Amino acid sequence: MPKETAFKLTYATMFNPPEELHTRFEDALTKVKANLGKEHTMLIGGKERKAKATFEDRSPINTDWVLGVFQQGDEHDAADAIAAARAAFPAWSGCSWQERLALLRKAADLIDERIYEFGAVIALEVGKNRMEALSDAAEAADLIRYACDQINANSGFIKKMGEDPLQGFKAVNYSVLRPYGVWLIVSPFNFPAALTGGPAGAALAAGNTIVIKPASDTPWTSRLLADCFRDAGLPDGVVNYVTGPGRTLGQALIDNPDVDGITFTGSFDVGMGIYRSFAQGSYVRPTILELGGKNPAIVSKNADIEEAALGIVRSAFGLQGQKCSACSRVYIERPVYQKILSRVVELTNKLAIGDPTDRSVYLGPVVNKNSYADFQAYIKEINEAGGRFLTGGKILTDGDFDKGYFCAPTIVVDLPMDHRLWKQEMFVPITTLTQVETLEEAMGYANDVGYGLTAGFYGSLDEAQWFFENIRAGVTYANRPQGATTGAWPGFQPFGGWKGSGSSGKNAGGLYYVQLYMHEQIQTLIQKS
Ligand code: NAD
Repeated sequence: MPKETAFKLTYATMFNPPEELHTRFEDALTKVKANLGKEHTMLIGGKERKAKATFEDRSPINTDWVLGVFQQGDEHDAADAIAAARAAFPAWSGCSWQERLALLRKAADLIDERIYEFGAVIALEVGKNRMEALSDAAEAADLIRYACDQINANSGFIKKMGEDPLQGFKAVNYSVLRPYGVWLIVSPFNFPAALTGGPAGAALAAGNTIVIKPASDTPWTSRLLADCFRDAGLPDGVVNYVTGPGRTLGQALIDNPDVDGITFTGSFDVGMGIYRSFAQGSYVRPTILELGGKNPAIVSKNADIEEAALGIVRSAFGLQGQKCSACSRVYIERPVYQKILSRVVELTNKLAIGDPTDRSVYLGPVVNKNSYADFQAYIKEINEAGGRFLTGGKILTDGDFDKGYFCAPTIVVDLPMDHRLWKQEMFVPITTLTQVETLEEAMGYANDVGYGLTAGFYGSLDEAQWFFENIRAGVTYANRPQGATTGAWPGFQPFGGWKGSGSSGKNAGGLYYVQLYMHEQIQTLIQKS
């Protein structure tokens, strides 16, 4: 790949990219497509590793496209990867934090240099449009840098404490945050770069060694990440990468007593199962869970209709409704209900659907057969419950669509308020809207779910303050046309959830995150004075 030159994708540029971004993405896509179908290995202790069996990584855009052949790791590979991470821990945790950060910043720079290759692979593996795919990789690099910045700003978290007054002695007290050991990172399909690279960067910057287990739909992106860490010069065994099914390989990793901590990002049910399994160890170990969402938007009668409609549509259908922050339910005050509905439908009908690597396309396919089946089952259920589709409500099968998992973005009204789908994460391009008499009524609905990830609001400034104070969610936005409930970037909108959406109460890419990967040691040294 050519080295990144004039243009860097950042929070500020991603809504208005220059032409160079498109030409470079297209060049990378051509190269990646010329290399499809190759076999990829796992990386354990710095060595390439094959498993007894393999699996195919196919594109949801066109299931005839075999993107690559990946290893189906088993419990022996899991044990070896953890042993390799364990063996690498003393040297990695023992080197200075400055040395560690220098290597990790190099890895982040390599992600930037290879960003178009990442973008092309993510678009093909996940079905993301090109801006979303590139942002995913750019965010991974910035999350790694942000963890480094936090360690740097806190001088490696080595802090002198007070000297307790002891007659005849001099006391020196230090608070030192130190790494736990071997950290397991289990990541989801929907942000394969950011949600693998982000936790990896924090765990590594803190001095842990890691084992990465990506989702079976997105092994390629994580392999590219592992390559960046290796090529940056991280010693063998510091980053290990294994692939295979969650239920077997993932579970074997979780059950290994030599794992000191986990970051799991994925669905609520799997996450809670992992939490319970991990609790079977002989003592409590840190478990960072980033789980699902059922994210509401509330629209006041004082809202700017255009801003609200744009934000709702972007968050409902960006990445085909498969963001943990997707806007999946909307409560609208009666006076503006009809206006919002018609504008939301108008905007939704304009969304271009197709091969998401095409520049003009906004909506690609859902990620796999299961999601495609889920979409169809939800449509049937909504129909049977008396819900009405203002647009969408069907899969798309014309022409090239029948090669992939394409679903029409779907707006639902009249779904009975006690229906289970008001509370269940669907993770497909369906959003439900209803009218309310008051903002208090809307807030009651908004908070009445087991999740608390993101939430959005449109209305006056005073109402926005009221919204922030009363909504129970970890990431909240008001009057944001770029996305009602979506949008995160390290240092700007750190990302994490309350209630069933997350375990730590601290947001990734924020001020309090990297500390989760370290335990505190107080060092008291007494000398006779
Ligand atoms: P998933 O729960 O199906 O899988 C996540 C990961 O867990 C995959 O790598 C999978 O292979 C692995 N896994 C499955 N069973 C396992 C087991 N028994 N032991 C160990 N690993 C196992 O989730 P997904 O479909 O990949 O991702 C979508 C979900 O992730 C949604 O619920 C979404 O809301 C959530 N998510 C949350 C956040 C957040 O920051 N809160 C971000 C992105 C996605």
